Amino acid sequence: MFTCHKISRISFNFRGSCNSTCPFCYIPFVDANNGDIVIWKKVVDAILTFQPDVITIGGGEPFCNEGFTELLKYISQKGCAIHVDSNASHLSYEAYSAIDKYIDIIALPLDGIGVVHDKFRNWQGHYELVLQKIGELSKLNVKVRINTIVHKHNYHQLIEIAKLIRFQNIAQWQLYEYWFFPEVNVPPTRFDNKEINKLLPLLSKESQKTVEYSPVSQREKTYFFVSSIGKMYGIVNGNKYIEYGDIWDESALDNAIKNTNFTENELRAQKKILL
Ligand code: SF4
Repeated sequence: MFTCHKISRISFNFRGSCNSTCPFCYIPFVDANNGDIVIWKKVVDAILTFQPDVITIGGGEPFCNEGFTELLKYISQKGCAIHVDSNASHLSYEAYSAIDKYIDIIALPLDGIGVVHDKFRNWQGHYELVLQKIGELSKLNVKVRINTIVHKHNYHQLIEIAKLIRFQNIAQWQLYEYWFFPEVNVPPTRFDNKEINKLLPLLSKESQKTVEYSPVSQREKTYFFVSSIGKMYGIVNGNKYIEYGDIWDESALDNAIKNTNFTENELRAQKKILL
């Protein structure tokens, strides 16, 4: 029998497609399309029955989808905090107006300095684009977060990144371990990052920001994913996706809930809200 749980943080993902081709991306782009505003609102209504403190909206690039700003308004009017992960490609002035009004936290990627970032993201010029958008976002009523996937080619640049963002209006710098999903992305280059926790105080000092490192082991059971057409999915065995079914299906919900670590999920939600 399904028991209603509060789920503090729910990830709402546009996994029909993305305008970028990051080789490390771990989003499973398996839905035939991304739905539309009518279906998104129904999905959000179902999500809100779990009383989330924050909805994290991400991959593929959410601002690519027509009607996305209307969705932001809809969620905001329901009183739930909104965190959006964006690759910065569609941050137009129309998007800024919606961000200013409805989004609490927006996260942009910074995966190295210059060509190191561009090569990692398979996108020439993306580094400059991200820096430009960080500057523009800092003038809005939104908290800006930087996400960095730590890998072999940017580890030695972390201090440089810290200095780069020092004078930017950034609320938090989040470092991530590369997450390898054999069915979805490419294996990481061999790299031993076990020293990274010792480096955090220095990165925090140089950047004058709150800096956190998220290893895969801390993340795998904290996610409660829902796609833009209402498919729920999670992660099993550390790096394999499992689809539970529709968010409206109680037996699917039961399975999704069994596989979620609510304590860690809530901790991650609180960290986002308290930024
Ligand atoms: S921008 Fe994000 S969602 Fe899109 S391919 Fe890159 S990592 Fe994946």
